[in-house]
Amino acid sequence: MKQVTTSLEINEAVSKARLQGQKIAFVPTMGSLHAGHITLMREARQHGDIVVVSIFVNPTQFNDPKDFEKYPRELEKDLEKCRLAGVDIVFTPERKEMYPVCDMRTPPTLPAVALPLEGQFRPGHFLGVIDVVSRLFQIVQPHAALFGMKDYQQVRVIEDMVKERGFDVQIIRVPTMRTKEGLAMSSRNSRLSEEGLEQALALQKALKAAQFLYDKGERDAKAIEDKIRSGLARQEGIQLEYVAVVDADTLLPISKIEKPALVALAAFVEGVRLIDNCLLG
Ligand code: AMP
Repeated sequence: MKQVTTSLEINEAVSKARLQGQKIAFVPTMGSLHAGHITLMREARQHGDIVVVSIFVNPTQFNDPKDFEKYPRELEKDLEKCRLAGVDIVFTPERKEMYPVCDMRTPPTLPAVALPLEGQFRPGHFLGVIDVVSRLFQIVQPHAALFGMKDYQQVRVIEDMVKERGFDVQIIRVPTMRTKEGLAMSSRNSRLSEEGLEQALALQKALKAAQFLYDKGERDAKAIEDKIRSGLARQEGIQLEYVAVVDADTLLPISKIEKPALVALAAFVEGVRLIDNCLLG
């Protein structure tokens, strides 16, 4: 496995591979890698001859500077995990490599799917995501890039960004990896105590309840949202920020579920912001 830190080095490596007709599969991450990230890396092998992983805690996508400071960082462990997962190249740029001082780029624009949900509660977040992912795509020039469904809205934003900006990159969705108890794996989980981890299980239970209602024939979006809200209000340690049942494609609110829908939620546990979701239909 090769670790590179500059655009020049990665460019050289991928250009050589491209010339030899090899396909590049890319997994962008912010590090502090867990089994969810590893699933993306293994899946990447199905889509490319060369698997590239980036590790960069992107400052521009944190709307809360404290969250950025507290974001877990463990590069040495991450490199070992990438090695074990059979990654070919790890790109670990410094901030100045991604955001040079003399930067002539036009600022990114947001597709409509970036506006509701996380877009509403984390202003600026998706501008940062689009900015860094498009910079990474230009540097790595992948044929395919893999994103986790745990950040479902992020996948939709990237899919639309790729269309709008004309990137020739296939976006692959990878299902959410969970602990055996059902908690969606997240780098932020490492900031939770044993008790917090236990309390956070209520989020997945709430989504399961939504699935149960849907399977029983409930199609009223508000009824499902209300059920989740009241269920989580009774759970100790959970401060729900939002829950919404929306069209799975446009992410706009719906009243009746007639097409695939997304149930998305965000909540704080011990001051740590967690998100989770499930698809209905
Ligand atoms: P992050 O390092 O949090 O920016 O995540 C990097 C990539 O891993 C994103 O595409 C995430 O959606 C994905 N990811 C994070 N957690 C999980 C998970 N539990 N299951 C699947 N993919 C995940």
